[in-house]
Amino acid sequence: MTRICVFCGSSMGYGGEYRKAAKQLGAFFTANKIELVYGGADVGLMKVIADTMLANGSHVTGVMPGHLVDRGVVHHNLSELITVETMAERKQIMVEISDGFIAMPGGFGTLDELSEILTYNQLRISDKPLGFLNVNHYFNHLFRFFEHAAGAGFVRKEHLENLMVSDNIDELIAKMKNYNPVEIGKWIKDIKVESNHG
Ligand code: AMP
Repeated sequence: MTRICVFCGSSMGYGGEYRKAAKQLGAFFTANKIELVYGGADVGLMKVIADTMLANGSHVTGVMPGHLVDRGVVHHNLSELITVETMAERKQIMVEISDGFIAMPGGFGTLDELSEILTYNQLRISDKPLGFLNVNHYFNHLFRFFEHAAGAGFVRKEHLENLMVSDNIDELIAKMKNYNPVEIGKWIKDIKVESNHG
């Protein structure tokens, strides 16, 4: 993996832990010659990762819709800025140019982005790994919801079991390198069978 896209907060989050983890991730990318792809903003955890890498001469690509660029949230020192029309196009480009994805703590924007990748991978539209960097157990509530969804029959157990999670960057990257997508044929068949019963 030479280019990783990070989804994370346009806010900093409370306390110093999230900011510290964002710095660590940026330093890890630089040390391992991994390029960053991200939303291109000059705010929040996004800014922390980008600044950490840019200060060390690493390559950082921002992908941002024109209307956000016009609102002045764009980072002005990016190695590369790809300006797009819409949020949907932005995600499309992020998927195309990245080898994998890391979700860090964030809000609705982060949830939107990580959900898109989970869905793409479920449908095998793409096969690029998504890892959750679970700083401060931030995503545990979301995982509990996913378990609830699986228990209610809306998320497949095999997809739940295939999530890659760690609070340690090395371990997370190792998991992502070993990503093994769930076969689509089997669960589509199961869904069809379930849909024809009762
Ligand atoms: P949120 O988690 O709601 O703070 O949104 C952060 C995620 O959504 C990032 O991964 C960005 O790609 C995107 N995003 C949200 N707000 C902005 C913004 N002001 N500038 C750039 N990207 C943003």
